[in-house]
Amino acid sequence: MKFKYCPNCGRELITRYSFDEGGVPYCPHDDIMFFDTPRPCIIVAVINCDKILLLKQSYIYKDSKVLVSGYVTNGECVEETVAREVKEETGITVGNIKYLGSEFLASKEIIMLTFMAEYIEGDINKSSEVEGVEWGLLDSALEEMKEDEIGKRIVKKVLEELKK
Ligand SMILES: [Zn+2]
Repeated sequence: MKFKYCPNCGRELITRYSFDEGGVPYCPHDDIMFFDTPRPCIIVAVINCDKILLLKQSYIYKDSKVLVSGYVTNGECVEETVAREVKEETGITVGNIKYLGSEFLASKEIIMLTFMAEYIEGDINKSSEVEGVEWGLLDSALEEMKEDEIGKRIVKKVLEELKK
């Protein structure tokens, strides 16, 4: 996001030249530079033997299942975000969290950090913000996720990882 006003004090920002970034919006009052950075978000494939945790969220995709995702909150590292979002949305505890790479979503200025994680314990106990949660078969997940392009790329990476 390109800032014009300081989100802290509301004053109009000036341009300050940074050695390697060029002109950057700057608040002299708070002495903060507002770099044009994306928002970090995680998305995770939770695996339990031959099954994968799938969510139904009709407001995102009408006819498609999706993976657990969420924004990184200040104060946590992204592995903590992964465990927290899975716990909050589904009630499941995960471990052995593995990074699978990142994708940039230009339309939303989001950097999507993709992961796989192993089921450790817990029964499905979904959040009220989630329409549905279920264990789907990993083999048929790609068909169930037809509209979710990022999710499908993650499942393909997971299938590669499991072959190793
Ligand atoms: Zn300010």
